[in-house]
Amino acid sequence: MNETNPSIHPFVAQPAGELPIPVFYSPAMVADSESFSPSAGKPALVVKSWQFLGLPLQFRTPQPLSAEQFGVAHDPEFVADVFSRRRNNGFGNKSPAVAASLPLTSGAMLSAAREALKNRIGAIAPCSGFHHAGYDFAGGYCTFNGLMVTAAVLLAEGKAHKVGILDFDQHWGNGTQDIIDRLHLDNEVVHYSPGEYSRPAKAEAFLAAIPKILERFAGCDLVLYQAGADPHIDDPLGGWLTTEQLYRRDRAVFEELKRLGIPVAWNLAGGYQHDADGGIRPVLDIHDNTLVAFVEARGHAVIPASPFAEREAA
Ligand SMILES: [Zn+2]
Repeated sequence: MNETNPSIHPFVAQPAGELPIPVFYSPAMVADSESFSPSAGKPALVVKSWQFLGLPLQFRTPQPLSAEQFGVAHDPEFVADVFSRRRNNGFGNKSPAVAASLPLTSGAMLSAAREALKNRIGAIAPCSGFHHAGYDFAGGYCTFNGLMVTAAVLLAEGKAHKVGILDFDQHWGNGTQDIIDRLHLDNEVVHYSPGEYSRPAKAEAFLAAIPKILERFAGCDLVLYQAGADPHIDDPLGGWLTTEQLYRRDRAVFEELKRLGIPVAWNLAGGYQHDADGGIRPVLDIHDNTLVAFVEARGHAVIPASPFAEREAA
């Protein structure tokens, strides 16, 4: 329990059992993007928030990606141009700090995926900024597509034969689909984003449909799950799910993947709300809930039994 701000972190984990929870994080993942999006700075804030939850997180250093590994999913010339800062990054600038963070953010995704394949449950990459990056373009706060780099590297190594990408960000993963199309990976990568819901009136139907939606991933060796925070109804770029519904979304995803026996590597994706102080507490609450849902789906109670209700009450 955090004495200084009890309203934010009311959870205390039960005795750990099969935990700890692998989180692939390095301070080098964090950069000032010089833009509207908090994505590049978010890993540090999320990790700090998670550390108050009382859960046995096991922080592990991501393996940075090489230019050759990026080149498995991207045009190698595009990769070279971004790193030499001849081309803009996904934030529309040539920030050296962003360039330096890129091998670690995508690296965290690949490291988490490798760990998930090994432990058969899951692992976490607390990073964002992947799905609008295509084969030879950056955009929408995304420079390289860590989802597709991860999938393509694991497929090339023979570590996976089929990879699912479940993208519950508010926005369509155009970059992900571009790489699938350009590399002809339709049989090896199953990509889904819930464009047909996306309205508050469809929220409960969406939540009820999650088990059915996830059936398409049957046969995948691994699912990469983007637990985006920008579908929140108050998000300036989003707008159809409440914080409580986002928690139920994540719980349903993790429960269903467990039932299907598919390990999951998950990350953060978008989320652009600010609180009155200019911080991103509403976004951090959503990411906290994703972590709680992940732990609960593994069969560990997080005190009290209904953590979300307790948080609301606090
Ligand atoms: Zn988004």
